[in-house]
Amino acid sequence: MVTPVIPSNGTYLTLEDIIDNYIPDDGDIHMAPTKVVSLENTIHGIIMPIDEIERISYWCRENDVKLHLDGARLWNASAETGVSIADYCKYFDSVSLCLSKTLGAPIGSILVGEKRLIEKANHFKKQNGGGIRQAGMLARMASIAVDENFSKLHQAHLYALDVAKFCEANGMTLECPCDTNFVFLDPKKVKINPSVLAACAKKNDVKVMGNRFAFHFQNSLVAIENLKKTLLEAYQDSLANPYVSRGAVRLYRSVSQSSENTVVCPEDHKEKK
Ligand SMILES: *Cc1c(COP(=O)(O)O)cnc(C)c1O
Repeated sequence: MVTPVIPSNGTYLTLEDIIDNYIPDDGDIHMAPTKVVSLENTIHGIIMPIDEIERISYWCRENDVKLHLDGARLWNASAETGVSIADYCKYFDSVSLCLSKTLGAPIGSILVGEKRLIEKANHFKKQNGGGIRQAGMLARMASIAVDENFSKLHQAHLYALDVAKFCEANGMTLECPCDTNFVFLDPKKVKINPSVLAACAKKNDVKVMGNRFAFHFQNSLVAIENLKKTLLEAYQDSLANPYVSRGAVRLYRSVSQSSENTVVCPEDHKEKK
């Protein structure tokens, strides 16, 4: 049984949010007692403050609750705050980190935890058909991604911040703060017609989908400028022809379904073609 918890401050979970949703062993017999708390950092590109992680971690240890981190994007938090991956991980019983997103490895994730947990996880992995032989090549690519790309992540954050500031300066209100490599802008909320946005994007040779704009250090400056041009053109159109959303029509995929790389560098793709 899983209890999803929405941060009451609108950006990150606090110990108080967790305590409000905690189900003790001697709680209501109709409910499943809380055994694991699972956090996510970054979530929506937002960095969870280390002080809050520390509070939650101490509370979990005192209450015999395991603490897991979905750290698919912990690299981005670490690159931005300077808090090392090791320093983040010490507060958790287990952490998963994704190698194939921001770091750019072709495949893979890492699970971190005590020896016994990893042994058990390996067993489950094999049982579910996830065993890989000759995994050395994948491991080599992963270590190159960590060694060579981690220091480049900040560039993606600079791109995102540039676009975030551009949106705000031009009257387009963002969905949430831009801490790392994502900008969340709901076209409909700023009265942009999604079809107009799609047409402007096509004209300017950028790939735009949903309400999450994802940035990568491999994006070119030209792609970033083309995205800004796209947003401005679509927004200016919306001032003349405000878009009225029809609730039942689902033109856009939700945040959780949208794809990772929204901004694609047109130059690179043309060269490859
Ligand atoms: C992508 C992602 C995962 C899964 O990562 P894999 O590398 O596919 O195992 C888990 N959590 C979050 C938040 C993600 O974005």
